[in-house]
Amino acid sequence: MAVKKETIETLLEESRIFHPDEQFTRQANVKNRDIYAEARANPRIFWAMQAERLDWYRKWDQVLDWEPPFAKWFVNGKLNACYNCVDRHLNTWRKNKAAIIFEGEPGDSRILTYWDLWREVTQFANVLRMLGVRKGDRVAIYLPMIAEAAIAMLACARIGAPHSVVFGGFSAEALRDRINDAGAKLLITADGGWRRGKIVPLKRNADAALTECPSVDKVLVVKRTGQEVPMQDGRDYWYDNLVVGVTVGGPCEEMDSEDMLFILYTSGTTGKPKGVVHTTGGYLTGVSTTHHMVFDIKDRDVYWCTADVGWVTGHSYVVYGPLANGATTVIYEGAPDFPEFDRFWAIIERYGVNVFYTAPTAIRAFMKWGEEWPARRDLSSLRLLGTVGEPINPEAWIWYHKHIGSERCPIVDTWWQTETGMIMISALPGIISTKPGSASVPLPGVEIDVVDKEGNSVMLGKGGFLVIKEPWPAMLRTIYGDNERYVREYWGKIPGHTLYFSGDGARRDYHNYFWILGRVDDVINVAGHRLSTMEIESALVDHPWVAESAAIGKAHDLKGQAISVFVTLKGKYFKELKDGSKTRAEFTSELKAHVVKKIGAIARPDDIFLTAELPKTRSGKIMRRLLRDIAEGRALGDTTTLADPAVCRELKEKYESKE
Ligand code: ATP
Ligand code: MG
Repeated sequence: MAVKKETIETLLEESRIFHPDEQFTRQANVKNRDIYAEARANPRIFWAMQAERLDWYRKWDQVLDWEPPFAKWFVNGKLNACYNCVDRHLNTWRKNKAAIIFEGEPGDSRILTYWDLWREVTQFANVLRMLGVRKGDRVAIYLPMIAEAAIAMLACARIGAPHSVVFGGFSAEALRDRINDAGAKLLITADGGWRRGKIVPLKRNADAALTECPSVDKVLVVKRTGQEVPMQDGRDYWYDNLVVGVTVGGPCEEMDSEDMLFILYTSGTTGKPKGVVHTTGGYLTGVSTTHHMVFDIKDRDVYWCTADVGWVTGHSYVVYGPLANGATTVIYEGAPDFPEFDRFWAIIERYGVNVFYTAPTAIRAFMKWGEEWPARRDLSSLRLLGTVGEPINPEAWIWYHKHIGSERCPIVDTWWQTETGMIMISALPGIISTKPGSASVPLPGVEIDVVDKEGNSVMLGKGGFLVIKEPWPAMLRTIYGDNERYVREYWGKIPGHTLYFSGDGARRDYHNYFWILGRVDDVINVAGHRLSTMEIESALVDHPWVAESAAIGKAHDLKGQAISVFVTLKGKYFKELKDGSKTRAEFTSELKAHVVKKIGAIARPDDIFLTAELPKTRSGKIMRRLLRDIAEGRALGDTTTLADPAVCRELKEKYESKE
């Protein structure tokens, strides 16, 4: 059966709805729904008004110069991102407010006021200048989640040197490729970082990477874990030694609105990472606006986004958004299950965290560990919760709502990407009702649609491709050094070259709410029916035995593809499988029947494979493309961004031996 206008069939129904609490609305940063109509009537005026949040050395001549698909925002405006995140707060009472609350995995803790942060950042910037870093030079940052990571980013921004942060969990090869792609001149790293009580050997990895990085001539090493590390004469410098006697203070470079602020490589869920380029004025406008609206941030709040600064979420919502807004941002170094499964809840209790933002993969892990862990901590300071990174299965949403939010906190499910720089689809918690599993509606000033292959809007209720119809200030400007790939990858897949294609599938329901169906590359095609991975997985996670699941399409002679699912069971049930009190067949037939009940016979999995773990990227996303390689008996594709390549190899062996 041929399908002409490719769309995605969507079958799963979710009818629960949660309305904003009146009291919350009364105090909310955004209380009035007119904001959507106002922004739509004149998006340029809307964004220009938002840009007034920032301090500019010189205002722009033109809000937007749009030559599809190349955009310039706030043309000829001049500003500095570090000035906006640090210096400008010193003229206000926030001078003595906590800017960063840092907690290390071993339990050490450090609180930096805006004044402290300014002292540290300016010194760091002066050390970089001393090492010869100049405006326009690229600096690679490979650090653990410590305050110095934010300080180093801001110091780069201060002197106009674009940073390229590489997640501290990445290997030497991944670091090498990113350094070379960006042509970085200097690398900032540390001796090591703490993870589950062990040292992550960052300096050692960096040394291995640098044997093949001709552009790097200096390495700045921050002391964190204290073990001995080799230092190469004339190349490697301890930060602690260089900073002695270095001046505090000093100027910020005046940057053009369109000067590059950073390069960031995407997580690599689908293949070769892309160096996404973000610039200064539009990006900072986008992240400060969305941080203010979506997280309803107040000056008294303690705000914690658990993302690593190695991901875009860490850039936009740990560092730039919160600090531009003068907020207090929490940085935690280590694992959520160290020394116990309640580490996150202990941090919330200890610092009185009010707004908490994490990922579905973490929430599914919390569910697996059990609700007794959050229950023993005082989480009453929380008033708002958020998620990002993957579609959240409705059952995980409900668990989060109940066990973390005490059925009191609104949940904002935020859809966006490295490329979008800022949140694009999310509820505004004072005015938008939420539905578990739906990211709800595009933010004011953001135009999004669901279309078919030709770029025509699909009907409400039908699935299709998620596209962005109008430029937005924090949009990527290009892929570093590769305008052609930028055009091809994002603007060339749907005719017309004016729709930004996100790579995700989505459906809009009859209330105009968006449901992200997963990546288009992952869509399963069964006898001409294009089914969403998200819906099949959510049906499985709805079953009390299931902790997590991944659905893929496996080549099939008759149907085109057959549905294959990989499932991890919750602790108790996994034990039952291991000790034989329930057989594999009992598990799989029950789970197949459950999917049929939730979605229909068309979605019945052909096979279910029970496993202890699923292959994930280092940012915690399930890599379905590797599962397809396993199911179809191929050699594994690119595994460099996997969190733990052993998981995948083992899974392949077990799958092949049908264990
Ligand atoms: P790569 O582009 O290299 O394959 P990646 O897409 O995982 O990697 P990111 O930019 O970190 O890199 O992730 C963005 C993607 O994450 C989105 O395109 C979407 O698939 C998914 N995503 C993020 N937030 C949500 C959300 N709230 N709901 C559903 N999916 C989400
Ligand atoms: Mg992507």
